[in-house]
Amino acid sequence: MIKANYPVDKFSGIETPFYYYDLNVLRSTLEEINAQTKKNNFHVHYAMKANVNPAVLETIKNAGLGADCVSGGEVEAALKAGIPASKVVFAGVGKADWEINLGLENDIFCFNVESIPELEVINELAAAKGKVANVALRINPNVDAHTHHYITTGTSENKFGINMEALDQVVDLVLTLQNVKLIGIHFHIGSQITDMTAFHNLCVRVNELQEQFIKKGVELSNINVGGGLGINYEHPNHFAIPEFEAYFKTFRDHLQLRPNQTLHFELGRAVVAQCGSLISKVLYVKEGTVKKFAILDAGFTELIRPALYQAYHRIENLTSDLPEEEYDVVGPICESSDTFAKNYWMNGTKRGDLIALRSAGAYGEIMASQYNLRKLPKAYTSDELTGK
Ligand SMILES: *Cc1c(COP(=O)(O)O)cnc(C)c1O
Repeated sequence: MIKANYPVDKFSGIETPFYYYDLNVLRSTLEEINAQTKKNNFHVHYAMKANVNPAVLETIKNAGLGADCVSGGEVEAALKAGIPASKVVFAGVGKADWEINLGLENDIFCFNVESIPELEVINELAAAKGKVANVALRINPNVDAHTHHYITTGTSENKFGINMEALDQVVDLVLTLQNVKLIGIHFHIGSQITDMTAFHNLCVRVNELQEQFIKKGVELSNINVGGGLGINYEHPNHFAIPEFEAYFKTFRDHLQLRPNQTLHFELGRAVVAQCGSLISKVLYVKEGTVKKFAILDAGFTELIRPALYQAYHRIENLTSDLPEEEYDVVGPICESSDTFAKNYWMNGTKRGDLIALRSAGAYGEIMASQYNLRKLPKAYTSDELTGK
């Protein structure tokens, strides 16, 4: 069974807090993705926004994944990491002109377009360069992902995508524009989705929409169903590899691809979450009147998910095997929301113990901030600390 390993002896010389990436977990994850997708000619674009650590990106590039970018900075980072432009897709509701130009200059595979005015601007900027940009329409399929409302993106109340009611109008427009080529449709319904019904519902909606396009005589060469596959935050040791088999099977079984259509995915969290941990040191154990606080040297400046989304991360004391006790595990930031977990049972903890906040490879390091003038965390990999 694959699970993250912690070379605690190697950690002792490193200044905390820091991110630790177990690249063996990442490589196994990527192998599983490739095993599940190769037979179907499915294409996976890694969602860069989850993590752009150079060693992590290098490993992902080596596995042959493309990139899904949501900013010009991410397009630059993907290309710099050696991911070919022909595998780069670019989404986002607010692409600035320089970002569109960057994509055009590098001939990226596809712009995922989220509105009529954006479509017109891409057409104009492409015309100025004498180019034709590949575009896919990001459609808001009104499918509820049943996940936290902050990470639901595919319902009508959301700012993302083009509403289905407006689709006819948009398709008519795009066909009149000379410098954009409509190659596909794109969806992304949310994140941390573990119930396959949401993806099944998406397939049904895509099939209906495909009929609409066929009726209009529009041929699409690619369907992009976005990302969103969730991971198991409760049991990272038992379920280090996400449910790729069930996930890809859902699309294989329920999405009707036309001949010559390719299916694209944009997985972020599922690729990188389980390989990463935030390693922190216990500064103090403070006995309150009713509670014990384990005060860490890491806070929401290093890992904001608990404060931002009430997200759960498993917490392990790597240096104690004392009987479990109950703690509020908190950071040093001057905000009450700087709490990783309340009433959390972990091995008896003392000053100097090393703590791992698990499943922190996605939306962890990349969301770090310098609030309270803290230093950004460094990151280390299993390859550099232990050799492969
Ligand atoms: C964030 C995002 C993804 C990745 O989402 P995960 O839940 O991390 O898989 C994919 N596509 C788009 C357009 C996104 O914004």
